[in-house]
Order: sequence, then C-alpha cells, then structure tokens
Amino acid sequence: MCWTCNDASPVQAPLTRRAVLSGMGGLAAVTALSACGGTKTNEGFRSIQPDDRAFSTGLHVVTLGTQAGPPVELERAGISTALIVDGAVYLVDCGRGSTTQYIHAGLRFSALRSIFITHLHADHIADYYNFIILAGSAPNFTGDVLSPIDVYGPGSAGALPGKFGGGDVGTVAPNNPTPGMRDLTELCSQAYAYSSNIFMRDSGAPDPRDLVRVNDIGIPGHVPASYVNTSPTMEPFVVMRDDNVIVSASLVPHGPVFPSFAYRFDTKYGSATFSGDTTYSENLITLARSTDVLLHEAVNVRGATNVPAEVLSHILESHVEVQEVGAVAERADAKQLILTHIGDRVTSPLPVQQWESWAAVGYRGTVRVASDLQHFIVNRG
Ligand SMILES: [Zn+2]
Ligand SMILES: [Zn+2]
Repeated sequence: MCWTCNDASPVQAPLTRRAVLSGMGGLAAVTALSACGGTKTNEGFRSIQPDDRAFSTGLHVVTLGTQAGPPVELERAGISTALIVDGAVYLVDCGRGSTTQYIHAGLRFSALRSIFITHLHADHIADYYNFIILAGSAPNFTGDVLSPIDVYGPGSAGALPGKFGGGDVGTVAPNNPTPGMRDLTELCSQAYAYSSNIFMRDSGAPDPRDLVRVNDIGIPGHVPASYVNTSPTMEPFVVMRDDNVIVSASLVPHGPVFPSFAYRFDTKYGSATFSGDTTYSENLITLARSTDVLLHEAVNVRGATNVPAEVLSHILESHVEVQEVGAVAERADAKQLILTHIGDRVTSPLPVQQWESWAAVGYRGTVRVASDLQHFIVNRG
C-alpha cells in the first residue's frame, strides 16, 4: 500500500487548485503537479482543467469534504468522499459543496458511476441533488454526467421517534415525514419541476428523472431492524457489484437515525470501509475486518466544560470519541485509519497532531486526520 498525505495542514480558503495540490504531498504531489493543466488566468484565480490521470489506475480515496454536522464553515466542506477504481468514481455522501469539491479534485462528472448515501441527515445529502439538477443539466468543462448514475441509500425509516428530552414537537410533511432515498429524489424532482421543464424546453437539457437509478437499500428480512432497534447485530450484506467493486453494507447505530449504513468496497486492489455516522459499533468492526483503509468519523468532547453532561452523552450516542476510535480500528484489524467527518466541540482550529495521537491509542496501524481534498493512494495498480 502506498500513501500520500500531507501534514494535515489547514485547508486554505477559498479553495484553489493550489489547495488540492498542497493536500497531496510527497511523491504523488510532484506527479500530480506535473500532470495538472491548471492555468493562471488572472491574479488569484486559476482555471482548473480536468485531469484525472492521477486516478486512472489503481485504488484511490479523495476526501472531498471532511466536516461533521450542519454548520457552514470555511475551513471544511461538508462530508463527501470519492473512491476511485481505475478511473471510475464512486461517491460516498454528498455534503455541502461536494459538487464543487469534486471538480477541485480534478475529477470528471463523466467518470461518476455511483453515489452511496450513508444516511439522510442533511449534512450528508446537501449537494446530492446538485449532481443531478446542475451537473446533469448541462456539461461543464469536465464534460457531461453519463447517465444514469446509480444511487444507493436508505429507505424510509417507517416512523419517527419522540423528542429528545420529552415534550411536543411539530412534524414536517406529516403525510410523508420519513421519505427514503427514492422518495427524496422524486420530491426534489417535483420541487425543481419548473426549472427542469424550462431547461428541457429552452436548452435541450435532459429530464432529470432519467439521470439516476435510485435504489432504496433493502435490509435483509431476517434482521430485526426498525426505527426503535436501529442496529441489531448482523452480518454484512452485498448492496451492489459491478466490474470494479463489490459493495457491502451493515447497519450502524447513529442515535435515532434509521437506517444508517456503513459501506465496504472490495476491489482487486484492496478494500476501503466507510463508517458513516456511528457510535461504537460491533457491526462496523465485522464489516471492516482486515480492511486496507478504514475511514471513520470522530468527535472530540474532551474538555467541553460548557456543554451539559446530558448533551455530551447524547452526542456520544451518535458518534465515536476520537480517543476511542483507535481501538475500533485495532479490533477490526484495519491496516490504516483515516479520520474524516471531523467534529471538535472544544478546539478550533483542529489540533491535528493531538487528534492523531489520540486516535493512535491502542492501534498499531497508521492514523491520518483528513483535510479536504486530500488524496490517498491505496494501491497504484
Ligand atoms: Zn454527519
Ligand atoms: Zn448523521
């Protein structure tokens, strides 16, 4: 396995091609730099030319956005990761800004094969429909979305839990309060109907409904999962396979959210496992067994003296403390650990070296704390 990663230096804003390259570091950075076609057109601005030769063979991971949660921050884009196999792109989550980050990374929309959504929190899907309604409506300098894109994500939760802490709360869309991936996509199509109908008539844009094949992931019938039993012990199951990847999933516990999936991609070059949003999970450890790369979420609450104890414990019902994540990687026998979906409730900017030393406790492999637009070469092929 070969790795390229930087010293976790803070991401510059606004993001530029330079930011992409500074996130690559080492030998591959030199290679990528010489391969990039970016040209300086005026002060402070670079036009980015599509150049995905760095990804044309082997298994790669690019962290497009690495932030946990809804806040709109400059330092990190919303959670989204590209896994690339021999040039074919598989996206895991589509957080805020991921369409823009996608092209910052040098990826072509025409290379996008499939989208996998771990769960339906807004910070994981904020840019999902932009891949369809914007990138799919008209080609940019990287070309067209080659449709249809296959989308895999949660089905309906079926029902809603009560309010944390008790009391009354309203319900948005009471006739369909828990839309799954297919309903969500259809409802987006309806909401954007006027724009789509005009674009289709005025500029020959495709019908957005033809650009995707959306699959609500069916949970095996023998697994007693529901919105009140969100992550019973289970074996992973295969969600999808094509000529590049076999994708398996398992349910992980993420507070009241159901379903919340972790995904594992097995390829001829090795494997990568995505925790999604989860607290400590035996299902994830089973899914990630001996994986080459474990991309795991993490949160730091140590020292959060201004947050009530019950709120802290509530956070930890949905997330894993960075101080505990090394033990997860060790138990899974993961060869490498990348932290992404970063949430620090105490310190800003992120003390990266502190985080890496926390995550290394109890783990014998290599730990990296990802920044946006970081390129990890898992196997050059
Ligand atoms: Zn999240
Ligand atoms: Zn979440």
